[in-house]
Amino acid sequence: MSALLLRLGSHKAWEGSLDELTSTASGLIGTLPWQGQTLRTPSRSVVVDYRSAGLIAPAIRKRYQWAHLVQLVVACVLVQSGHSRKSAAKRMQSLDPAELIGLLMEHNGPGSADTVEPGISTVDHARALRLAHEAVCLLAVGLVDHFQRARSGRLLVHDPALSPALRGAMLRLASLHVMFGMLVRSDGAHTLVAQCRHALRAREWGIPIFDSPDCRFHGIRLLDGRTCLPTIECIDLARQSGSEIDLNEQQAFAQLNSACDQFGMRGSDVYSKLREFITRHPISSPTEIRRFLSASSMQLAAPFMASCYESVQPHHLVNGALLRCATCGAPMANSVIEGHACCAVRQCGAFDVPVPCGSARQVPVQDVLVAKSHILVYWCGPGQDEIALYDTATANPPGLVATLYPGRDKCDVSLDNETIGIDVKSHASPFLLADTLNRNVGGLELFPKKYIAINDQALSRFPGYLDILRRECNRTDIEFIAVSALRRKLRTRS
Ligand SMILES: [Zn+2]
Repeated sequence: MSALLLRLGSHKAWEGSLDELTSTASGLIGTLPWQGQTLRTPSRSVVVDYRSAGLIAPAIRKRYQWAHLVQLVVACVLVQSGHSRKSAAKRMQSLDPAELIGLLMEHNGPGSADTVEPGISTVDHARALRLAHEAVCLLAVGLVDHFQRARSGRLLVHDPALSPALRGAMLRLASLHVMFGMLVRSDGAHTLVAQCRHALRAREWGIPIFDSPDCRFHGIRLLDGRTCLPTIECIDLARQSGSEIDLNEQQAFAQLNSACDQFGMRGSDVYSKLREFITRHPISSPTEIRRFLSASSMQLAAPFMASCYESVQPHHLVNGALLRCATCGAPMANSVIEGHACCAVRQCGAFDVPVPCGSARQVPVQDVLVAKSHILVYWCGPGQDEIALYDTATANPPGLVATLYPGRDKCDVSLDNETIGIDVKSHASPFLLADTLNRNVGGLELFPKKYIAINDQALSRFPGYLDILRRECNRTDIEFIAVSALRRKLRTRS
């Protein structure tokens, strides 16, 4: 790996103003040659210009971070290798810092710049877009179906019993390959399912239409990269496409509800307490769980809690050690940078930020329990923002009366005796989220004042997210806001 990429990887804790961003990037670029040539260092006005061209994401509370530094350096390399700012912005759109570094690693100068977009202008755009949208919806239904079958012990076999939705998706993807003059991939259902761990972008899928600005599913993943579980986006898409499959069962909500039923009148309160404990403790221990249950007289929920955790498994370990993310508490995973680990929770502020294994928090594995994959993906990950909002509201000041998951999950957090309802969303695509909300906002409907708070990481990966969401969602009674902005708003209330 080049010295520039290595140095970039070591700046993960960097934070600064626009001027500091300019000078830090210049320091990196000016001193380290790229592929034998010296790059021009960016001036302040170049940085401002890149910012408005969408090459650099908006600042977070007027501060720039490592992700912005990576975006600026990668943008300088791409533009100076012959890309237009527009094509560089398109290539960089919705890539995480580690993915951007990966983009540079595979980037071999101007010759390879446009291989990903063969013949985009000669195909029938509307038809390609329709095929792509249909293919993705069918894939979502097929994956959820496949996941359900796998849970009941049936293996994925490419035979007449293959999910009709997966078959339909494969046909449409083959048509798209033909339209774009590419070889038709016929490696079967296994390869397709494995491919679904990658974000829907031209670079990963080889299908140019996925990068089109009117592609509603650009950048989303259908399967979680680490656990291969259907993502929340995949589940939403499957539901929108009329899938009959009961995903509540798969996401452990059904088990949690029946555990709470045993508590009669206390059911709702027990529901909130159990979800809160699990979200706050992606890693726990039998002793900690026992103490928690007996302190709230909830011993009846012990079998349910046992079903949510497992002992440490090999895939939880990095170089033989269990490392805990300092931000969200989940087990860390291997990073693309050697000798480093990173958080694998997409909603976490430390997602994909490499930390040297030696300086990460190590947890002794004896008597330790880790939340099972589906609990980590569906509860702990999205729950980080829910807990942060709840903690902000209940801190003193402002000392508000707040409830987590009130009335068994009518919304994520309610305030002021249920006059305000807040739901947190971390969908990768504002288009997909708008489609979901246009169909149904669930229990949030019951609250006179409704907030939908969007995860800040999701916002930083998709330029113009909130504006697109406000435009595409036909609900005028919902206030859309960044999680960080809502927390600031709560702090000023009393
Ligand atoms: Zn984390």
